[in-house]
Amino acid sequence: MNTQELKKIKTKALENHIPIIMDDTLEVIGKYLKQEKPKRILEIGTAVGYSAICFTEFLSEEGTIDTIERDEERIHEAKTNIKNTEVKDKINIYEGDAVEILPTLNKKYDVVFIDAAKGKYPFFLKEAIRMIKPKGIIFADNILYKGYVMSDYNKHKQRTAVRNLREYIKEVSENPNLETEILEVGDGLAVSRMK
Ligand code: SAH
Ligand code: MG
Repeated sequence: MNTQELKKIKTKALENHIPIIMDDTLEVIGKYLKQEKPKRILEIGTAVGYSAICFTEFLSEEGTIDTIERDEERIHEAKTNIKNTEVKDKINIYEGDAVEILPTLNKKYDVVFIDAAKGKYPFFLKEAIRMIKPKGIIFADNILYKGYVMSDYNKHKQRTAVRNLREYIKEVSENPNLETEILEVGDGLAVSRMK
């Protein structure tokens, strides 16, 4: 997809307050993906397809992305965004709640990108670990959630999200099969490599 088309998608998403991946986060993930040349990526949280489209640039030949979204309007827009472009055969959208869809998947992935409901991150992690290939990478966006995750201020209404993000960090840190870094890029990015 050319940069002009991509810019349009990004501008429109930002105008509509759709929480697409931040530039610096994308840059960091791009550095990893350039090395990995993944064949199969799983994304949880498509929104309008912006990050998935960006990731296609780093796929190996014949590589594909499976991405999950539950919001009908966003699914429609994601489809519109990829339709008639050269990336359309590389992105497969699963329509529905990832909590229901993930357990039905039985594929192996080189990379998993978690970017959906924060309260479900520990569940998404469990499913990601089940499907990640050896040496594969699991990314989790928004892991520091505006700084709430690392602060002891606990009374905001995002409490459940914060508790689950902390749980995610604890699990990736304690899992002996994962090597994890928490990066203060964008809204926080967890990078966990499977041994
Ligand atoms: N990855 C996108 C942004 C995703 S925003 C990008 O960077 O371009 C998060 C999206 O996850 C939202 O569109 C929301 O509808 C979706 N989402 C949240 N919880 C979900 C769930 N349980 N199943 C499927 N989609 C979910
Ligand atoms: Mg995000």
